[in-house]
Amino acid sequence: MKRIVFFGYRGTGKTAIGTIFARGLNVPFLDTDALIEQKSGRTIPVIFRTDGEEKFRALERDVIAALPPRDVVVGTGGGAVIDPKNMEHLRAGSICVLLKSDLATIERRLARAPRPPLTNLPLKEEIAQVIERRRRQYAASADFWVDTSGTSPQEAADRISFLLKNGSVAPLEREAALQWFADGRVPAEGLIPLKNILTGPDRDVQTRILGIAGWPAAHSRSPFLFNRLFVKYGLNCHYTWFEDSSVETIMQVARDIDAKGLSVTIPFKRDVMACLDNIDDAAQQIGAVNTVVFACGSAYGYNTDWLGIQKPLAGCKGARAVLLGAGGVAAAAAYALTDLDMEVTVLNRTQQKAQALAERFGCRWKAWDAFDGINPDLVVNATSIGMQPDTKSPLRDDQLKKEMTVFDLVYTPPVTPLVAAAQKAGCATISGTGVFIHQAREQFRLFFGIDVPDTVIREILA
Ligand code: NAP
Repeated sequence: MKRIVFFGYRGTGKTAIGTIFARGLNVPFLDTDALIEQKSGRTIPVIFRTDGEEKFRALERDVIAALPPRDVVVGTGGGAVIDPKNMEHLRAGSICVLLKSDLATIERRLARAPRPPLTNLPLKEEIAQVIERRRRQYAASADFWVDTSGTSPQEAADRISFLLKNGSVAPLEREAALQWFADGRVPAEGLIPLKNILTGPDRDVQTRILGIAGWPAAHSRSPFLFNRLFVKYGLNCHYTWFEDSSVETIMQVARDIDAKGLSVTIPFKRDVMACLDNIDDAAQQIGAVNTVVFACGSAYGYNTDWLGIQKPLAGCKGARAVLLGAGGVAAAAAYALTDLDMEVTVLNRTQQKAQALAERFGCRWKAWDAFDGINPDLVVNATSIGMQPDTKSPLRDDQLKKEMTVFDLVYTPPVTPLVAAAQKAGCATISGTGVFIHQAREQFRLFFGIDVPDTVIREILA
């Protein structure tokens, strides 16, 4: 039997429901908090009081790493989701169920069984604040989810049994979705697993679907990358292509088949925002979403492009930067650079767009030919100049000085004419391939809570 792991905030019913569930399956129920108390010979309030939360989390990590891989039901402490290593251990080969409850219910249950405080706030405010802080981790922990607010533990356990046996999608919706995929442009090799998952006689109802949403999307390397990561991390998921000229249609299909998440690419990064229930602050400011996570009946939007752009620039805080371009990815770059307190000047072929972008992020803007008077430490190319097949450089070779760091966001070809010229001029260079890798790493963390090292992604893509 696959290991079943219950996640959720304190007071959502993990122990009560997990115990009933394990009894029904005739397997042990292991509560990680109880295991920590056994191992340390102290109660959790005492560990918190004497050693603090950090020590508790270290004990929790050890206990989770030692859990049996199968034939067991596990209840996790409410904060176990915070640690990506815990998620890697807990998710491998498991079925993950998130329990949620409304605030009033949690407060009522916790008042009966006091636990150590996590903040100095009154109980109700603490619950609201901590759940909000962990919201993305809880979403990442959900293969299936159940609201336990108005149910008894037995009713909730029955609902979970039903979900694990039948899946979360009705047959008619699965058939309609398969028809949509078949009518679209999913490559032939991509349709075979979809048929098996959605309507095949031996289908596994627990397999979760994710994909790349775009028009076109066929060029994306994400299906190749993510499907290999699923094998490596023991996740029962399949990543496919959601290709359609309407992002509303894509979102409807994704909701109909209870998809776990979407990567979003051209031309939908802006338009998809109107189809979401909640958008993260950075994505809101950038004006683009490239990651959608579905959980607990809602669609959450994030932008991981800016994190991929910022990662290699961590040592360039406060630099004088020129940003070439004012399109979608330039907005993510402007957010990443200004977040590092850089003095940014935007140059773009269409000046009005440079001005509009600069005004949004508190940057300067100038005409394209003003480059020579700026003398930047850092040049970021966020135009599509240099992208195959039009492989040329946005700057003349004599404009590149060896003191500059040159970052080209274009990654096809891997060594662009700008990067080649900058290398020749003795500049430090950063290629766009790293951005794809790091933004995919952040996406995987949003989908599953697991932190994949860059080296693992590089090896898969090599
Ligand atoms: P976009 O919204 O269409 O913006 C394109 C930008 O390029 C605009 O500023 C446009 O200027 C400028 N441009 C296009 N052709 C030009 C030309 N011949 N001369 C001067 N400027 C020109 O595209 P995007 O989504 O921002 O993507 C831009 C590039 O970034 C693409 O090559 C894409 O592959 C790359 N990218 C890389 C990553 C990564 O992971 N490394 C992620 C996303 C995007 P106007 O405003 O004047 O039209």
